[in-house]
Amino acid sequence: MPATNLTVGIAGAGLMGRLLAWQLQQRGYRVTLFDQAALNQESAAAFVAAGMLAPYAELETADTGIFNMGMHSLDLWPDLIKDLTSKPLWHQGGSLVLAHPQDTSYLQRFLQQLEAHDIEPGKVHHLNQSALFNHNSGLAEHFNQAIYLPQESWIYTHELLKILQQRIVAAGVTWHHQTRVENVSSGCITSTMGNHVFDWAVDCRGLGAKPQMPQLRGVRGEVLEVHAPEVDITQMVRLMHPHYRLYLVPRANHHYLLGATQIESEDTSNISVRSALELLSALYSLHPGFAEARIVGTATGCRPALADNLPAIYSRQGLLKINGLYRHGYLLAPTLAEEAIKCIEANDDLIFPNIHHPIDLCKGPSQAKPRADKLGPNKEYPCTSC
Ligand SMILES: Cc1cc2nc3c(=O)[nH]c(=O)nc-3n(C[C@H](O)[C@H](O)[C@H](O)COP(=O)(O)OP(=O)(O)OC[C@H]3O[C@@H](n4cnc5c(N)ncnc54)[C@H](O)[C@@H]3O)c2cc1C
Repeated sequence: MPATNLTVGIAGAGLMGRLLAWQLQQRGYRVTLFDQAALNQESAAAFVAAGMLAPYAELETADTGIFNMGMHSLDLWPDLIKDLTSKPLWHQGGSLVLAHPQDTSYLQRFLQQLEAHDIEPGKVHHLNQSALFNHNSGLAEHFNQAIYLPQESWIYTHELLKILQQRIVAAGVTWHHQTRVENVSSGCITSTMGNHVFDWAVDCRGLGAKPQMPQLRGVRGEVLEVHAPEVDITQMVRLMHPHYRLYLVPRANHHYLLGATQIESEDTSNISVRSALELLSALYSLHPGFAEARIVGTATGCRPALADNLPAIYSRQGLLKINGLYRHGYLLAPTLAEEAIKCIEANDDLIFPNIHHPIDLCKGPSQAKPRADKLGPNKEYPCTSC
């Protein structure tokens, strides 16, 4: 139910902060956003991301919970975008998962993983070479089979983030940009401007929350954008390879985003020679038309991750901390926003209780919600913000 009198302060206007701000504003909350970046500065991890909504393909490495939350988000994104804009901000082009003939054991293993998840018929197609040729004749030159996942989609990330910003500001949300947040505690955001009091304070600072959440870590990811007029690929592509994993996401006018490295480091400096060589070699092995492609951009960002690479919503009365979106921010953000709003509205009808963790280990008086039954294994978070 909309709660027009409640005020919510959100620290961090990356993906999670923007989406939550928009949804809360739509429900009648009075929302204030804080971000250390300038309004048009693209420093959040959200600006580096490829925007893949690929719950099936992620099953190769991710937990079943990510798949379930990702499938739920796939249902939520279309309406959410329809409320924001009539522009096509997402595209359901499907994914092709490929492996070179000498690496087909990876495809077999992936098929077994999909089968273990009891996926509905029609959601996974095993293509032979002639079926692959019908999807893309260029890819069939180097590959003799593929797995096609028709439901998978991608978001046009920069456009989405820009429109969210426009809508949020136009709707009257106060956006304190170039304002560093030092602390987020129950009902209070402490920024370089001082203390700001709200009914609810929400920490969506991603890796920027690390001073208060030491268990966070950054996972460096590097991406490249190429322009390849000779290539016409309209699906996302994932290459399974013993050393060089690659995904490719089509953008407009024969532009392709390729990524991404995954390095245990919080360094956000430019892409390294080794990473560029590996990604580009893998790209060149995909399709002969990439030989003459032009490299038009590179970017680096850090995914905010917890030890188990799963997202978490830590809560107590007046305080939410949403973090650990790792490599699944776009895949999970609508679901996490929905679950966060349920916390604020004391709605116990949680769809994904395992991601909820009460902040109840604080010394001193605790106002923790009685959510012990919802606590996931080993996820107590000793609050450092009391
Ligand atoms: C290379 C790469 C590829 C990716 N590809 C995908 C993909 O295909 N699909 C997918 O689902 N996900 C992908 N991701 C993951 C996704 O980008 C992240 O999960 C998501 O951006 C995390 O959202 P967030 O809002 O928690 O953090 P961010 O998007 O990083 O936002 C955090 C915000 O907080 C602000 N902030 C930080 N510290 C402070 C402070 N002290 N005070 C004020 N403001 C602060 C920052 O300026 C920023 O705006 C990818 C990530 C990377 C790096």
